[in-house]
Amino acid sequence: SYSAQFSEAAQFMQQHDSFLVVSHIHPDGDAASSTCAVGLMLDQLGKRYTLLNDGAVPQKFDEVCGSDRIVNAQLLSELPAAQAIIAVDCADFERIGEVAARFPAGLPLLNIDHHPTNDLYGTANLVIADASATAEILYDLITFMSLSWNKQLADCIYTGLLTDTGGFRYANTSSKVMKMAATLLDYGTSASELAEILLESTTSAHVELLKRALNTLTFSPKQDIAWVIVEKEDMSETKANHEDLEGIVNYPRNIEGVQVGMLFKEMKDGTVKCSFRSAGKANVAALAQQFGGGGHVRAAGATLDGPLSEAIASVVREVERALYG
Ligand code: 5GP
Ligand code: MN
Ligand code: MN
Repeated sequence: SYSAQFSEAAQFMQQHDSFLVVSHIHPDGDAASSTCAVGLMLDQLGKRYTLLNDGAVPQKFDEVCGSDRIVNAQLLSELPAAQAIIAVDCADFERIGEVAARFPAGLPLLNIDHHPTNDLYGTANLVIADASATAEILYDLITFMSLSWNKQLADCIYTGLLTDTGGFRYANTSSKVMKMAATLLDYGTSASELAEILLESTTSAHVELLKRALNTLTFSPKQDIAWVIVEKEDMSETKANHEDLEGIVNYPRNIEGVQVGMLFKEMKDGTVKCSFRSAGKANVAALAQQFGGGGHVRAAGATLDGPLSEAIASVVREVERALYG
């Protein structure tokens, strides 16, 4: 039951003295803010810890959740010693990235996540697929552990809720989420400031990529599958980072009559990252899993072998099969 999972997670945090806290590669708002929130929880418990990520964390998260405290593991010749690992917002162990191979063997791992495709890879697991965000689970864990709230912790949790619900618009926007958000405003979070930084403000690289991506917009014969493509050169010529792609996949998905929208990104190594978004009919988590990825029913992702044209053809074939049987 959930209460057994909460007490197991609480015990895990209480029983060890030092931790590595990690999230997934290319961290989003929920990943970055959940990493920072766990750090603030461990502060209250008087524990030692290092916040880590497989790469750099987008700068916009620094000012909203203090994610400049998250260390880029690629810049570390050696990981700090620790007794235990806490992974947040990672559906499977591989999502942690290459840094996971450097974890000392045999360390206990607490897996806190909300993806329905989570394979319970932890030695302890707090996995609640109904939760809108990992931050929602942490809110409940903070309450369960009787930890105290402050503006910094409230900003972290609010960031995860806001970003994983697409600004309180997606199907995971429950009344519980809205009540939590309201309480976080009482703890000092500014809804307008966080929305401005996390949802409204954008980079010129993003707009340039969006122009190029929209030029590639393609429909299936029945017009209910649509996708855009971003090639290696689009990334290098616009000097874009992975984070500059955020939101672009929503353009094909949002078109009237489209059931599945996709973004195909050609990676530097020639593999192809596919982002899937569903308008409701198709379960894209199941689709992404067919290609070794995962995610949520309405938002998922997977990485395929190139070349681009073959990756697109095989994905579109499977999406058609999922829609028409
Ligand atoms: P995005 O398309 O924005 O990268 O990811 C959408 C959702 O799918 C997120 O919840 C993300 O965690 C999940 N996701 C994206 N790529 C992968 C992947 O390669 N493996 C798994 N398990 N989940 C993914
Ligand atoms: Mn995430
Ligand atoms: Mn999440």
